[in-house]
Amino acid sequence: MTVLRFDSVSKQYPGGRVALEDVSFDVGAGEMLFVTGHSGAGKSTLLKLIHLSERPSRGAVLFGERNLLKVRGRRVAMHRREVGVVFQDHRLLTDRSVFENIALPLILRGMRRGEIGKRVRSVLERLGLGDRERALPTQLSAGEQQRVGIARAVVSEPRLLVADEPTGNLDPTLSAEILALFSALPEHGTSVLVASHDLGLVKRMRKRVLVLDQGRLVDDIAPEDLADA
Ligand code: ADP
Ligand code: ADP
Repeated sequence: MTVLRFDSVSKQYPGGRVALEDVSFDVGAGEMLFVTGHSGAGKSTLLKLIHLSERPSRGAVLFGERNLLKVRGRRVAMHRREVGVVFQDHRLLTDRSVFENIALPLILRGMRRGEIGKRVRSVLERLGLGDRERALPTQLSAGEQQRVGIARAVVSEPRLLVADEPTGNLDPTLSAEILALFSALPEHGTSVLVASHDLGLVKRMRKRVLVLDQGRLVDDIAPEDLADA
């Protein structure tokens, strides 16, 4: 089953450069893959088209059966519930506890409190944050903060998780740890697409890699071909 399909997608910003040019690829259910390329290659733009922060100039983005061109107005918020997003700077609320940060998307959906508590604690355990629920984000290490960002993105059980340079502020050891956490998500039914400019780090994860160069998809490397890539 296909979770995501880019069909000849191009994106040109108003008055700006071409950020993506005729990009096509499919992501299967439960698949994890990376998109890599130099700064300006179009990685962020590709992710923004998926969570509808931007719209393509040409071509179509399909999310399951849904053509995102047709998702407008109130449906944008509904779509975003099914697509978790992790940012480099994690964007946590600094005056709210770890628990509250993660619970927020569920509160906004009107979920019952008992159910929220269960879900948040289960995600905290999975991400090794079980003893940190009362802490404020500023009391956490950089790696813990990013794990809270991931927890907040997965607590809604999205079909797809997209992450834009999630290890950008972390040292190599922590980066590898965070990427290993992403690798475990497909077991729970979430497909994962991670953008990173760090090709060395990405290759070590042994997952499929899309390579963008000046907006063009120039390579789509299967895990078994990574050694000679
Ligand atoms: P990456 O994430 O790989 O660094 P981006 O998707 O951010 O690449 O950028 C791709 C290209 O699009 C770059 O040339 C960038 O300057 C341009 N770009 C990105 N966002 C905008 C924008 N909002 N307006 C105009 N140009 C943009
Ligand atoms: P990132 O690619 O990690 O999102 P950037 O620093 O490239 O971060 O971009 C920050 C913001 O500025 C983004 O919202 C992006 O769309 C916008 N942006 C990037 N390049 C340009 C550009 N050339 N002109 C206008 N806006 C841009």
